Amino acid sequence: MTWAATVLTLYPEMFPGPLGHSLAGRALGEGIWSLETGQIRDFATDRHRSVDDTPAGGGAGMVMRADVLARAVDDLLARRPEVPLIAMTPRGRPLTQAYVRTLAAGPGASILCGRFEGIDERLFEARPIVPLSIGDYVLSGGETAAFVLLDACVRLLPGVMGAPTSGEEESFEGGLLEYPHYTRPYEWEGRTIPEVLRSGDHAKIAAWRRAKAVEETRLRRPDLIERHGDARRPPPSGARRKEESDKS
Ligand code: SAM
Repeated sequence: MTWAATVLTLYPEMFPGPLGHSLAGRALGEGIWSLETGQIRDFATDRHRSVDDTPAGGGAGMVMRADVLARAVDDLLARRPEVPLIAMTPRGRPLTQAYVRTLAAGPGASILCGRFEGIDERLFEARPIVPLSIGDYVLSGGETAAFVLLDACVRLLPGVMGAPTSGEEESFEGGLLEYPHYTRPYEWEGRTIPEVLRSGDHAKIAAWRRAKAVEETRLRRPDLIERHGDARRPPPSGARRKEESDKS
């Protein structure tokens, strides 16, 4: 079944944008996922097609109106009731690879993109919306955040990445950053590839990679180690999986 992405935005012409290229673009062409955009202004009722108004209590900028957004959201929820509805906002819960996996395993994602100062808070209270942030910084609009979310999901859909196991060892999958990668030339600017990677000994290579993943996560992202505790063991590598299945 096609994984269905729908994006509600003031800028539908921005899509598919980067998602029309490479892995995601090919998968879109092959029908592995679909992308529909909705123009939020189509749900305005005045002749100026207004979607925003001044902030209650004063202050800079404009706020997206709950009534206009609710009409857009209700239309989408009626057409795709089974698909989770997400609003991109820096005030949302942080996006994680675990949530990306959950979304990718489901029927799709419906995404509401904010602009201006953001969305009238009452919309979040009145509709089943997951507020989601892609990081602790402020973008000018939710469209860029939607690209990030969709890219992360689409690459996990069956048939998108080359090998069926691709992605299982990547950063964040086992609560660790991934181990470092190297390729030819063997020597570059006086630096060589670690000898163990040329040994052909798959068990040794897997052990080295595990150790490197732990070491670099401790160094660069101690918060991940703290958060995942004993779940730090990365999933088995292709070689280790083969060894394990050969044993059983
Ligand atoms: N005034 C808001 C605040 O300080 O939380 C920021 C609004 S931002 C300028 C406009 C829109 O960009 C937001 O409504 C949201 O859709 C999107 N956006 C900005 N930063 C984001 C982030 N880190 N994650 C997800 N969406 C973001």
